[in-house]
Amino acid sequence: AVATMAVVPSSIEVSWKDIGGLDKEIQTLRETIIMPIINSEIFSNSKLLSFPKAYCLGVLLSGPPGCGKTMMAKAIAKESGCIFINVDISVLHDMYVGESPKYVAAVFSLAEKLSCYSPVILFIDEIDILLGQRTQRDHEASQQIKSVFMTNWDGLISSKDSRIVVMGATNLPEVLDAAVYRRLPVRFNLKLPNKTARLHILQVLLKEEDLDSDIDFLQLSLATDGMSGSDIKEYCSQSCMVRYIEIFREQSAADSATFPTASSSSEGKGPALPD
Ligand code: ATP
Repeated sequence: AVATMAVVPSSIEVSWKDIGGLDKEIQTLRETIIMPIINSEIFSNSKLLSFPKAYCLGVLLSGPPGCGKTMMAKAIAKESGCIFINVDISVLHDMYVGESPKYVAAVFSLAEKLSCYSPVILFIDEIDILLGQRTQRDHEASQQIKSVFMTNWDGLISSKDSRIVVMGATNLPEVLDAAVYRRLPVRFNLKLPNKTARLHILQVLLKEEDLDSDIDFLQLSLATDGMSGSDIKEYCSQSCMVRYIEIFREQSAADSATFPTASSSSEGKGPALPD
Protein backbone atom coordinates (compact mmCIF):
# COMPACT_ATOMS: atom_id res chain seq x y z
CA ALA A 1 0.00 0.00 0.00
CA VAL A 2 2.82 2.37 0.84
CA ALA A 3 4.14 1.96 -2.68
CA THR A 4 1.02 3.69 -4.06
CA MET A 5 1.65 6.76 -1.95
CA ALA A 6 3.20 9.65 -3.82
CA VAL A 7 6.34 10.83 -2.07
CA VAL A 8 7.82 13.83 -3.81
CA PRO A 9 10.95 14.89 -1.97
CA SER A 10 12.69 17.23 -4.36
CA SER A 11 10.93 17.33 -7.69
CA ILE A 12 8.04 19.65 -6.88
CA GLU A 13 7.30 21.55 -10.04
CA VAL A 14 5.11 24.24 -8.51
CA SER A 15 6.41 27.50 -7.12
CA TRP A 16 4.84 30.85 -6.18
CA LYS A 17 5.32 32.27 -9.65
CA ASP A 18 2.92 29.63 -11.03
CA ILE A 19 0.10 30.76 -8.75
CA GLY A 20 -2.04 33.71 -9.73
CA GLY A 21 -4.45 35.82 -7.69
CA LEU A 22 -3.53 34.51 -4.24
CA ASP A 23 -0.89 37.06 -3.23
CA LYS A 24 -2.38 37.85 0.19
CA GLU A 25 -2.72 34.17 1.07
CA ILE A 26 0.84 33.50 -0.09
CA GLN A 27 2.13 36.34 2.08
CA THR A 28 0.34 34.96 5.16
CA LEU A 29 1.50 31.41 4.44
CA ARG A 30 5.05 32.69 4.15
CA GLU A 31 4.85 34.36 7.54
CA THR A 32 2.94 31.70 9.45
CA ILE A 33 4.40 28.50 8.06
CA ILE A 34 7.48 28.98 5.96
CA MET A 35 9.23 31.50 8.16
CA PRO A 36 8.91 29.33 11.31
CA ILE A 37 10.11 26.27 9.39
CA ILE A 38 13.13 28.02 7.93
CA ASN A 39 13.99 29.89 11.14
CA SER A 40 13.14 27.17 13.61
CA GLU A 41 15.96 28.16 15.99
CA ILE A 42 14.28 31.52 16.75
CA PHE A 43 11.21 29.67 17.87
CA SER A 44 12.90 26.93 19.82
CA ASN A 45 14.89 29.51 21.84
CA SER A 46 11.86 31.53 22.80
CA LYS A 47 9.52 30.60 25.62
CA LEU A 48 6.83 33.01 24.49
CA LEU A 49 6.81 31.68 20.96
CA SER A 50 5.99 28.16 21.96
CA PHE A 51 4.16 28.04 18.64
CA PRO A 52 4.86 26.12 16.57
CA LYS A 53 5.92 23.40 18.97
CA ALA A 54 9.11 22.66 17.13
CA TYR A 55 7.36 23.04 13.84
CA CYS A 56 4.69 20.50 14.15
CA LEU A 57 1.54 22.31 13.29
CA GLY A 58 -1.67 21.74 11.49
CA VAL A 59 -2.87 23.68 8.47
CA LEU A 60 -6.25 23.51 6.79
CA LEU A 61 -6.73 24.70 3.22
CA SER A 62 -10.38 24.87 2.29
CA GLY A 63 -12.29 26.15 -0.71
CA PRO A 64 -14.14 25.00 -3.82
CA PRO A 65 -12.58 22.43 -6.18
CA GLY A 66 -9.80 23.67 -8.42
CA CYS A 67 -9.05 26.88 -6.52
CA GLY A 68 -5.37 26.04 -5.92
CA LYS A 69 -5.23 24.19 -2.59
CA THR A 70 -2.90 21.46 -3.82
CA MET A 71 -0.76 23.97 -5.70
CA MET A 72 -0.37 26.06 -2.57
CA ALA A 73 0.64 23.05 -0.47
CA LYS A 74 3.29 22.04 -3.01
CA ALA A 75 4.61 25.59 -3.34
CA ILE A 76 4.94 25.84 0.46
CA ALA A 77 6.92 22.59 0.50
CA LYS A 78 9.17 23.81 -2.27
CA GLU A 79 9.78 27.24 -0.80
CA SER A 80 10.52 25.94 2.69
CA GLY A 81 12.64 23.00 1.54
CA CYS A 82 10.24 20.48 3.06
CA ILE A 83 9.78 16.91 1.98
CA PHE A 84 6.27 16.64 0.56
CA ILE A 85 4.29 13.49 1.26
CA ASN A 86 1.04 13.36 -0.65
CA VAL A 87 -1.22 10.94 1.19
CA ASP A 88 -3.48 9.33 -1.38
CA ILE A 89 -6.53 8.35 0.62
CA SER A 90 -8.38 6.92 -2.36
CA VAL A 91 -6.31 3.75 -1.94
CA LEU A 92 -7.94 3.11 1.43
CA HIS A 93 -11.20 2.13 -0.29
CA ASP A 94 -9.57 -0.78 -2.08
CA MET A 95 -7.90 -2.24 0.96
CA TYR A 96 -8.90 -5.28 2.90
CA VAL A 97 -10.22 -4.78 6.42
CA GLY A 98 -7.29 -4.30 8.76
CA GLU A 99 -4.92 -3.07 6.05
CA SER A 100 -5.91 0.59 6.08
CA PRO A 101 -4.89 1.31 9.70
CA LYS A 102 -1.52 -0.22 8.82
CA TYR A 103 -1.26 2.12 5.83
CA VAL A 104 -2.00 5.14 8.03
CA ALA A 105 0.57 4.03 10.61
CA ALA A 106 3.10 3.47 7.80
CA VAL A 107 2.52 6.98 6.47
CA PHE A 108 3.32 8.49 9.88
CA SER A 109 6.30 6.23 10.37
CA LEU A 110 7.67 7.26 6.96
CA ALA A 111 7.08 10.94 7.75
CA GLU A 112 8.92 10.60 11.05
CA LYS A 113 11.87 8.86 9.44
CA LEU A 114 12.13 11.41 6.63
CA SER A 115 11.81 14.31 9.06
CA CYS A 116 15.28 13.43 10.36
CA TYR A 117 16.58 14.84 7.06
CA SER A 118 14.22 17.78 6.42
CA PRO A 119 10.90 19.02 7.78
CA VAL A 120 8.00 17.15 6.25
CA ILE A 121 4.62 18.28 4.95
CA LEU A 122 2.10 15.50 5.21
CA PHE A 123 -0.53 16.60 2.70
CA ILE A 124 -3.96 15.00 2.90
CA ASP A 125 -6.28 16.03 0.11
CA GLU A 126 -10.00 15.53 0.80
CA ILE A 127 -9.24 15.15 4.48
CA ASP A 128 -13.00 15.19 5.17
CA ILE A 129 -13.27 11.73 3.59
CA LEU A 130 -10.68 10.35 5.97
CA LEU A 131 -11.51 12.39 9.03
CA GLY A 132 -15.09 13.58 8.71
CA GLN A 133 -17.47 13.68 11.65
CA ARG A 134 -17.73 10.39 13.47
CA THR A 135 -21.23 9.04 13.11
CA GLN A 136 -23.13 6.11 14.51
CA ARG A 137 -23.26 4.66 11.03
CA ASP A 138 -19.48 4.68 10.60
CA HIS A 139 -18.13 1.27 9.73
CA GLU A 140 -15.87 -0.27 12.29
CA ALA A 141 -13.07 -0.05 9.70
CA SER A 142 -13.38 3.71 9.22
CA GLN A 143 -13.54 4.27 12.98
CA GLN A 144 -10.35 2.28 13.27
CA ILE A 145 -8.63 4.39 10.58
CA LYS A 146 -9.63 7.58 12.36
CA SER A 147 -8.46 6.35 15.69
CA VAL A 148 -5.07 5.22 14.33
CA PHE A 149 -4.71 8.53 12.57
CA MET A 150 -5.51 10.54 15.70
CA THR A 151 -3.22 8.48 17.92
CA ASN A 152 -0.29 8.92 15.55
CA TRP A 153 -1.02 12.59 15.06
CA ASP A 154 -1.18 13.21 18.80
CA GLY A 155 2.12 11.39 19.11
CA LEU A 156 3.64 13.98 16.78
CA ILE A 157 2.05 16.90 18.57
CA SER A 158 3.33 15.77 21.94
CA SER A 159 6.82 14.98 20.68
CA LYS A 160 9.13 17.90 21.41
CA ASP A 161 11.17 17.76 18.27
CA SER A 162 8.76 16.68 15.63
CA ARG A 163 9.28 18.43 12.31
CA ILE A 164 6.07 17.49 10.57
CA VAL A 165 3.33 19.79 9.35
CA VAL A 166 0.02 18.05 8.76
CA MET A 167 -1.74 19.92 5.97
CA GLY A 168 -5.30 19.01 5.10
CA ALA A 169 -7.31 20.21 2.11
CA THR A 170 -11.06 20.04 1.78
CA ASN A 171 -14.03 21.44 -0.12
CA LEU A 172 -16.22 20.73 2.90
CA PRO A 173 -14.59 22.06 6.09
CA GLU A 174 -17.92 21.93 7.93
CA VAL A 175 -17.93 18.14 7.61
CA LEU A 176 -14.66 17.73 9.52
CA ASP A 177 -14.64 16.08 12.89
CA ALA A 178 -14.39 18.82 15.59
CA ALA A 179 -11.30 17.17 17.08
CA VAL A 180 -9.60 17.20 13.68
CA TYR A 181 -10.59 20.80 13.06
CA ARG A 182 -8.99 21.83 16.39
CA ARG A 183 -5.75 20.17 15.40
CA LEU A 184 -5.60 22.25 12.20
CA PRO A 185 -5.49 25.75 13.72
CA VAL A 186 -3.86 27.59 10.81
CA ARG A 187 -6.72 27.91 8.34
CA PHE A 188 -7.01 29.35 4.88
CA ASN A 189 -10.26 29.57 3.04
CA LEU A 190 -9.52 30.01 -0.66
CA LYS A 191 -12.40 31.43 -2.65
CA LEU A 192 -13.33 31.45 -6.30
CA PRO A 193 -11.16 34.15 -7.89
CA ASN A 194 -12.63 37.63 -8.42
CA LYS A 195 -12.01 39.67 -11.57
CA THR A 196 -8.54 40.87 -10.55
CA ALA A 197 -7.50 37.41 -9.36
CA ARG A 198 -8.73 35.88 -12.64
CA LEU A 199 -6.69 38.44 -14.55
CA HIS A 200 -3.56 37.38 -12.62
CA ILE A 201 -4.31 33.68 -13.11
CA LEU A 202 -4.72 34.26 -16.87
CA GLN A 203 -1.42 36.16 -17.00
CA VAL A 204 0.36 33.35 -15.15
CA LEU A 205 -1.18 30.57 -17.24
CA LEU A 206 -0.57 32.29 -20.57
CA LYS A 207 2.83 33.82 -19.89
CA GLU A 208 4.73 31.35 -22.04
CA GLU A 209 2.21 31.06 -24.86
CA ASP A 210 2.69 32.62 -28.24
CA LEU A 211 -0.21 35.06 -28.12
CA ASP A 212 -1.54 37.69 -30.48
CA SER A 213 -0.19 41.07 -29.37
CA ASP A 214 -3.67 42.56 -29.10
CA ILE A 215 -5.01 39.97 -26.67
CA ASP A 216 -7.32 41.66 -24.16
CA PHE A 217 -6.71 40.14 -20.72
CA LEU A 218 -9.34 42.32 -19.09
CA GLN A 219 -11.94 41.02 -21.51
CA LEU A 220 -10.80 37.45 -20.83
CA SER A 221 -11.07 37.98 -17.09
CA LEU A 222 -14.68 39.09 -17.59
CA ALA A 223 -15.40 36.11 -19.83
CA THR A 224 -14.18 33.73 -17.14
CA ASP A 225 -16.53 35.00 -14.41
CA GLY A 226 -17.52 32.23 -11.98
CA MET A 227 -14.62 29.95 -13.00
CA SER A 228 -12.06 28.42 -10.65
CA GLY A 229 -8.33 28.49 -11.41
CA SER A 230 -8.64 24.98 -12.74
CA ASP A 231 -11.59 25.94 -15.01
CA ILE A 232 -9.59 28.90 -16.31
CA LYS A 233 -6.69 26.57 -17.11
CA GLU A 234 -9.04 24.30 -19.05
CA TYR A 235 -10.54 27.30 -20.86
CA CYS A 236 -7.06 28.54 -21.83
CA SER A 237 -5.89 25.10 -22.99
CA GLN A 238 -8.94 24.71 -25.18
CA SER A 239 -8.62 28.20 -26.63
CA CYS A 240 -4.91 27.65 -27.34
CA MET A 241 -5.69 24.31 -28.96
CA VAL A 242 -8.29 25.92 -31.23
CA ARG A 243 -5.75 28.60 -32.17
CA TYR A 244 -3.03 26.00 -32.89
CA ILE A 245 -5.43 24.02 -35.05
CA GLU A 246 -6.25 27.19 -37.00
CA ILE A 247 -2.54 27.93 -37.50
CA PHE A 248 -1.93 24.31 -38.53
CA ARG A 249 -4.75 24.47 -41.08
CA GLU A 250 -3.51 27.80 -42.45
CA GLN A 251 0.00 26.33 -42.80
CA SER A 252 -1.26 23.15 -44.44
CA ALA A 253 -3.30 25.19 -46.88
CA ALA A 254 -0.26 27.37 -47.68
CA ASP A 255 1.98 24.28 -48.09
CA SER A 256 -0.42 22.52 -50.42
CA ALA A 257 -0.72 25.70 -52.51
CA THR A 258 3.10 25.80 -52.88
CA PHE A 259 3.59 22.03 -53.36
CA PRO A 260 0.44 20.63 -54.94
CA THR A 261 -0.32 17.17 -53.58
CA ALA A 262 -1.66 14.31 -55.75
CA SER A 263 -5.20 15.17 -54.79
CA SER A 264 -4.82 18.85 -55.65
CA SER A 265 -2.91 18.33 -58.93
CA SER A 266 -4.55 17.98 -62.34
CA GLU A 267 -3.80 14.22 -62.23
CA GLY A 268 -5.80 13.79 -59.07
CA LYS A 269 -9.40 14.49 -58.32
CA GLY A 270 -8.84 18.11 -57.31
CA PRO A 271 -9.59 21.11 -59.49
CA ALA A 272 -7.65 21.19 -62.76
CA LEU A 273 -4.74 23.63 -62.77
CA PRO A 274 -4.66 26.09 -65.65
CA ASP A 275 -2.22 25.21 -68.51
P1 ATP B 1 -9.40 19.98 -5.65
O1 ATP B 1 -10.27 20.50 -4.54
O2 ATP B 1 -10.22 19.50 -6.82
O3 ATP B 1 -8.34 19.00 -5.21
P2 ATP B 1 -7.51 22.18 -5.66
O4 ATP B 1 -8.12 23.34 -4.96
O5 ATP B 1 -6.50 21.38 -4.92
O6 ATP B 1 -8.65 21.25 -6.27
P3 ATP B 1 -5.45 22.49 -7.61
O7 ATP B 1 -5.30 21.00 -7.81
O8 ATP B 1 -4.40 23.16 -6.82
O9 ATP B 1 -6.88 22.76 -7.00
O10 ATP B 1 -5.61 23.21 -9.02
C1 ATP B 1 -5.81 22.46 -10.23
C2 ATP B 1 -5.09 23.16 -11.35
O11 ATP B 1 -5.74 24.42 -11.64
C3 ATP B 1 -3.66 23.52 -11.02
O12 ATP B 1 -2.77 22.50 -11.33
C4 ATP B 1 -3.43 24.78 -11.86
O13 ATP B 1 -3.05 24.41 -13.15
C5 ATP B 1 -4.80 25.44 -11.92
N1 ATP B 1 -4.96 26.49 -10.90
C6 ATP B 1 -5.81 26.50 -9.87
N2 ATP B 1 -5.71 27.63 -9.16
C7 ATP B 1 -4.74 28.37 -9.76
C8 ATP B 1 -4.16 29.65 -9.50
N3 ATP B 1 -4.56 30.39 -8.48
N4 ATP B 1 -3.18 30.08 -10.31
C9 ATP B 1 -2.77 29.35 -11.37
N5 ATP B 1 -3.27 28.12 -11.66
C10 ATP B 1 -4.26 27.65 -10.89
